[in-house]
Amino acid sequence: MKYAFYSILLPIALVMGFFVQTAQAEPLQSTIRVGILSNQENVLISADTKFEILNGETGQLLVHLAAGEKATISVKGKTLSINGKLTKAVKISVLTSKNNGEHYIEVNKKQYRGNIDIHITHGSAVLTIVNTLPIEQYLYGVIAKEMSPSWHFEALKAQAVAARTYALYNLNKHQNDDYDVCATTDCQIYDGRESEVTQVIKAVDNTSGQVIMAQGKVIPAYFHSSSGGYTENSENVWGTYESYLRGVVDYDQNSPLYKWEKKLTTNELTAAINKAGYTIGIIKAIELPPLTSKPMNTPERGVSGRVKVIQFIGSTGSAQLTGEQLRKILGLKSTLFDVSVMVPVEQAVDFGQSFITDKKEIHRISGRPNEIIVISGFGWGHGLGLSQWGAKAMAEQGPQGDSTYFKEILKHYYQGTTIKKVF
Ligand SMILES: [Zn+2]
Repeated sequence: MKYAFYSILLPIALVMGFFVQTAQAEPLQSTIRVGILSNQENVLISADTKFEILNGETGQLLVHLAAGEKATISVKGKTLSINGKLTKAVKISVLTSKNNGEHYIEVNKKQYRGNIDIHITHGSAVLTIVNTLPIEQYLYGVIAKEMSPSWHFEALKAQAVAARTYALYNLNKHQNDDYDVCATTDCQIYDGRESEVTQVIKAVDNTSGQVIMAQGKVIPAYFHSSSGGYTENSENVWGTYESYLRGVVDYDQNSPLYKWEKKLTTNELTAAINKAGYTIGIIKAIELPPLTSKPMNTPERGVSGRVKVIQFIGSTGSAQLTGEQLRKILGLKSTLFDVSVMVPVEQAVDFGQSFITDKKEIHRISGRPNEIIVISGFGWGHGLGLSQWGAKAMAEQGPQGDSTYFKEILKHYYQGTTIKKVF
């Protein structure tokens, strides 16, 4: 009876297990196409094993090359040429011989895992080079560009999961150019095998296939260097509300850019604001409520204190700028800052007069010589999601030897999310 009971239950369990698995683990793409180079007139290809170049559209073998042999690909008229020999192909694929261990294709003398595709860029006679490889191997070449491999292993693992999630979210971002992500800061910096480090490979392998999800969807896992003490709500940075991108307390006090300062003369500030198209004459006053304890709740600042709007009053007009506009104009590290005016008085340095009017702080600029406008800021980056310096501190201060602590770090910076293995 006992065995009969199990013999009925077991198939049911298997069937249920199957459904549970398919319902939970969404079949997500596990390879990625990385646009590693664009606008190239020609490109030099080689490999550390024998390799083949195929017509990327028909699959026809165009040339077979030995290990270390070189092929220069260029555009000739409307098709591609290989070592000066014209082909009928507009797209070619470079493949190493399979089932032969790990091998690498060289593109302009840099090594890459996976395959290389080269096509004529849409609408112009130049080349786009695309590296197609498993996302896991792509991450090997990404993480060390984002975080020091010498940092705490749980922080590296948190970064690996955030980078994997961000890559998956951005698949098809560059669909118009026939690849998923580019290899610059626009997506994530990727440098092929050159930037692979043992600790990074280990962090990627240890978190293999794990991504951050909310309501069953892969989230845009934004990350930044250091928030300056508090992260920000998404609507205050990108304008859209995301439940998982909420301002939380950060632990980034050891970041070298936790605190920074920029000093300008009235002339420099006036020139920068006017040059940016706000023709308001000589700056006479700056209106910005001061930073107070967080979370903040004012129309001018986000929860972290990041500046949403700041007012400049000039001799011929006034202008309201967003914190982001001012950050770009002055090249600031973040939009989290206070403003003060320093006036030298008889060799002593004194703070300028501050007037509280309508709950706003108005910094008057008198125009005296040597007057200095001081921007005292915190953090580096947009302040959304994971703070890398905060993750480092959490990992260092968390329970040592707990190999799941990276999840706690991620759940702190991405509120209400779950970490799931999707491939
Ligand atoms: Zn990009």
